[in-house]
Amino acid sequence: MRTSPTYWIVIASTALACARREGAAPVARSPFGTTREGKAVSVYTLKNARGIEVRVIDYGGIILSLRAPDRAGRFADIVLGFDSLADYERSSPYFGSLIGRFGNRIAGGRFTLDGKTYTLARNNGPNHLHGGLKGFDKVVWDVTPFERGGDSVGGGLVLRYTSPDGEEGYPGTLRATVTYTLTNQNELIFDYEATTDRATPVNLTQHSYFNLAGDGSGDILGHVVTLNAARFTPVDSTLIPTGTITSVSGTPFDFRAPTRIGARIGQNDEQLRRGLGYDHNFVLDTSGSTGPPPTLAARVEEPSSGRLMEIYTTEPGLQFYSGNFLDGTLRGKGGVVYGHRYGFVMETQHFPDSPNHPAFPSTILRPGQQYRSRTILKFGTAP
Ligand code: BGC
Repeated sequence: MRTSPTYWIVIASTALACARREGAAPVARSPFGTTREGKAVSVYTLKNARGIEVRVIDYGGIILSLRAPDRAGRFADIVLGFDSLADYERSSPYFGSLIGRFGNRIAGGRFTLDGKTYTLARNNGPNHLHGGLKGFDKVVWDVTPFERGGDSVGGGLVLRYTSPDGEEGYPGTLRATVTYTLTNQNELIFDYEATTDRATPVNLTQHSYFNLAGDGSGDILGHVVTLNAARFTPVDSTLIPTGTITSVSGTPFDFRAPTRIGARIGQNDEQLRRGLGYDHNFVLDTSGSTGPPPTLAARVEEPSSGRLMEIYTTEPGLQFYSGNFLDGTLRGKGGVVYGHRYGFVMETQHFPDSPNHPAFPSTILRPGQQYRSRTILKFGTAP
């Protein structure tokens, strides 16, 4: 699954070079709290040469904050989140988290693999969502920071978690490694790797909610989105793909030209009604020829601040979620109320419910295979 010799050899040797320089200049680490189960949680702060700062905790690999400049050089935190670990444990809609073992939904919490049927938690109506009751967003990862000097490189974190056979109903011991790298080109790179000792579905992603105008500053309807996707996967009333792959042409899902999120979100369209807005998997135009190097999937620009984010990925799909379930009941950082659509999420991943759709690109990882996936967020500003 997703093999790619030369590219990944380069990536692996870069990672090795980083590892050798581990400890050259420490990434700041301080206590963040203690989980209900009594595990100590730390916060790590990465900073690049241009002042971008990313704070990450080992609980869920959660990105707590990400400070990036606007067109006038003013920095703001552009991700949603909470101030305390207790808030993340109590009521987070996956703010900033790593998602695993399986990003998005599995219909009925059930799939059959090699003739055996597996039953998973139904934690989202009739379906299984984002890995279950205690997915990768709720475990404490083992984190090793690294630093790399020089103009073009930055520092980062290697996060490791071993998910035991049967955890959340999934087969196989899954050894997952996710590397977050912040470069001096204002890129935040997510490298996902995993191996297993039994065949199992794997679909890892990162679930940060963005508001490029600044966390808590209002809804994201004015953000201008471009998606490199001519097709999407329509959903049923429980947000499970129907299995068809449909052209975006002539629909509110056509983001091939830059379009405000809010321009068509209120249209009387059955798919928008089912998603309560955008909550759909887009089939990236690179789908089918996926693999390295990462290609441009999405570009999001916020006109008032000029902040810009480009997303490159090796994944075939992108779940664009317009924060429809944010409804003013959550209070985030600094006590700010997260109103309807105060953040959006762009989850690079394989298609939802793939284990039940043999025609979708496979998410099955087998013993001896290496799961590899890379996504790059590139921050900048528009004039
Ligand atoms: C899903 C949404 C869900 C959200 C969790 C997204 O990936 O597609 O339906 O509500 O995650 O808050």
